[in-house]
Amino acid sequence: MSRVRTIGGNWKLNLGPAEASKVATELVAAVVDRGDTRVTLFPTAISLTAVLEAVRGSGIHVGIQDVHTADSGAYTGANSATLARSAGATAALVGHSERRHVFGDSDATVHRKLIQCLDAGLLTTLCIGETLEQRDSAQTEAVLAEQLKSGFGELPPDRVATVTLAYEPVWAIGTGRTASPEMAQEAHAFVRAWLRQAYPDWVADDVCIQYGGSMKPANAAALLSCPDIDGGLVGGAALKAESFSAIILA
Ligand code: PEP
Repeated sequence: MSRVRTIGGNWKLNLGPAEASKVATELVAAVVDRGDTRVTLFPTAISLTAVLEAVRGSGIHVGIQDVHTADSGAYTGANSATLARSAGATAALVGHSERRHVFGDSDATVHRKLIQCLDAGLLTTLCIGETLEQRDSAQTEAVLAEQLKSGFGELPPDRVATVTLAYEPVWAIGTGRTASPEMAQEAHAFVRAWLRQAYPDWVADDVCIQYGGSMKPANAAALLSCPDIDGGLVGGAALKAESFSAIILA
């Protein structure tokens, strides 16, 4: 099993180049002994170069928060996976709940973005998760299964195995409401079982499944000790080096 424990920090639309560089520099100093944990920062595209400079030589990855479905062309305001890669990014997020629910990314769009990122050679995180309404009406597993099926499409097992999944219940993102470790583990076990029935066993064993949704220093250790929780995708608590490093070291 070559599952890589991965902690991502999603800075969303926060931290311009100077602030982002400062937090990244503090983080590099705080997490020198992070063992085998892969750490990835997702600054706004405007701060990408400054963050790359700040983490140079530290082994910390820097990624793009979203990409367009095309490489280049008349798409004002968009960023692409290939351009992110050429700017030095090594990772990407696709399907974050804010992209799905604020910007209207469909499962089909998320799939096309995933392919763009994989083709560009980026370590790609596919985010999935149910809304509160879907959880309350017992649709969580159906929603996750559909997001996985459409997200991966016809990708072969060896490419699926390179993707990091982030289970992020929408009702827990930025709300301060965290899924309990039991609730999160149950969803992660479902995702792992879905992978196991769809692909050869080694894919389910290799894929890192992160939990995301109000993860903070106080709850990180309990969540990360669950057998199917292999890492975290952190929003608010990643904006400060002190809290983000405490999660990484948890
Ligand atoms: C996120 O943006 O992916 C996230 C999990 O945010 P927060 O930690 O603030 O809930």
